Amino acid sequence: MHSTMQQGPLLTSEILTYASRLHGSTGEAVTWTADGPRRVSYAELGRRTARLANALRAKLGVTPDQRVGTFMWNNSEHVEAYFGVPSMGAVLHQLNIRLFPEQLVYVANHAEDQVVIVDNSLAPAFAKLLPEMSTVRHVVVNGPVPSEVRAALDASGREVHDYEQLIGDQPDTYDWPRLDETQAAAMCYTSGTTGEPKGVVYSHRSIFLHSLQLGLASTIGIGPTDRVLPVVPMFHANAWGLVHGALAMGASLVLPDRFLQAEPLAAMIQQERVTTGGGVPTIWAGLLNHLDTHEVDTSSLRALLVGGAACPPALMRAYDERHGIQVLHAYGMTETSPLASVAVPPPGVEGEEAFRYRVTQGRLAVGVQARIVAADGSSQPWDGKAQGELELAGPWITGSYFRATPEEIAEEFDDGWLRTGDIATVTPDGYVTITDRSKDVIKSGGEWISSVDLENVLMGHPAVLEASVIGVPDEKWSERPLAAVVVRDGHSVTPEELREFLSGEFAHWQLPEHWAFVEEVPKTSVGKFDKKAMRAMYAEGELW
Ligand code: ADP
Repeated sequence: MHSTMQQGPLLTSEILTYASRLHGSTGEAVTWTADGPRRVSYAELGRRTARLANALRAKLGVTPDQRVGTFMWNNSEHVEAYFGVPSMGAVLHQLNIRLFPEQLVYVANHAEDQVVIVDNSLAPAFAKLLPEMSTVRHVVVNGPVPSEVRAALDASGREVHDYEQLIGDQPDTYDWPRLDETQAAAMCYTSGTTGEPKGVVYSHRSIFLHSLQLGLASTIGIGPTDRVLPVVPMFHANAWGLVHGALAMGASLVLPDRFLQAEPLAAMIQQERVTTGGGVPTIWAGLLNHLDTHEVDTSSLRALLVGGAACPPALMRAYDERHGIQVLHAYGMTETSPLASVAVPPPGVEGEEAFRYRVTQGRLAVGVQARIVAADGSSQPWDGKAQGELELAGPWITGSYFRATPEEIAEEFDDGWLRTGDIATVTPDGYVTITDRSKDVIKSGGEWISSVDLENVLMGHPAVLEASVIGVPDEKWSERPLAAVVVRDGHSVTPEELREFLSGEFAHWQLPEHWAFVEEVPKTSVGKFDKKAMRAMYAEGELW
């Protein structure tokens, strides 16, 4: 029997219309600039987004399904592209500005981007890539650029436009089409931490459903009184849904643009009364250092979302104890839109027990299905003990990659389930603990050593600022752990002291055997410890 319900498609244009009409005067997008904050109300953002869509269609001839790339920081024009491009039926492609040049050229060509919107501060870098981007016809520059940068862009022979001039004379309404909700709305490529970038294509439906999740009390519970600071870039897995989620909940956005250092972030939090935000552990670790040594009013903050890599428990505790700020741990990947789980403890659990829940990767979201698969392909119980690869399925989990070959699909998916490449346990009530990435886990003498566990404990040592552990080849044991450590300013520590520190929590054979003291742990394009780079450094004899 069919229901009597209407089939209203779940579209990005619905989120935009909701924010601009119902929260038009109270909701705003604030962009940080060198001259202070720049504001646009959601009512105005709605009009500007319509003008952008009109210009893309009427002036640049963008047709449904064509890809419009962005090469931008987190700012209000990027939000306009986030909504304008998919809502008119085209597909947004957020280029990760921090990929290597050859990877950027590869993804723009692979996605067949026709138009790219570029921030003026990034235009010089983009101009170098443009000649190789074979499908790009139009470049739209957001903000003024010096004549030599303009000349470099023009030299490519593509049409170059100024964002404000392009949209300035356009109508401020757009008759948003009633699209099929399963149609492509946006695409992000994985950052290639473990391989070549792969294209994940989100639908209107997946974005809409994922956005609603951000408003749940079982996640970060965003509402109209929130002022959300996505430090996570809008090119990194949709800024974790914080941008779509803020508009869907009528919450305001505070956008850092290129000002990602701890000092301006602290200023944004204080001046703009930020209530919540999202970033990788290295971002919040940098901010913590700043808060520890400066007078900053953080009283508006209620919770910070951390994810993308395991959050060291010591970081979470330091925010709790020294600043009264809750750090909320979330897990996901580009392929999962990205939120798959958020570590909100179950009701009635407090103190240390709650902390034990909070350091897990979180409780699976409604609609996200998970299974744990052992090396022999058998499905393992959700008992909090049995380990295996975490496989996921659900309405905002990808079932393929853009233009994937049958071989790639066979490798990355298991009977339709996404293979995450993460080794995990799941408790009976759905809390996931990632012990390691399957590529990072250290295989020593037939046993596994979790690099993440070692890092987490090491980063709890008062002299350690950062610690990253990799497995290095060993004739006898196959692999042994090497720890690369960054020592805090004004401290000193020896490998013996660190081994002693770890020995309370690890068996003797699990302790790092090799130690490297480094200035900085190499980071990926999205700010995670780059273990591929560390392994390469080791192979080149730079670490050991
Ligand atoms: P990339 O795979 O290129 O790093 P993603 O940002 O999509 O790009 O990374 C997803 C991966 O990041 C996950 O598969 C997992 O290994 C790791 N990850 C994400 N969040 C967490 C977390 N909270 N704890 C541990 N690992 C995490």
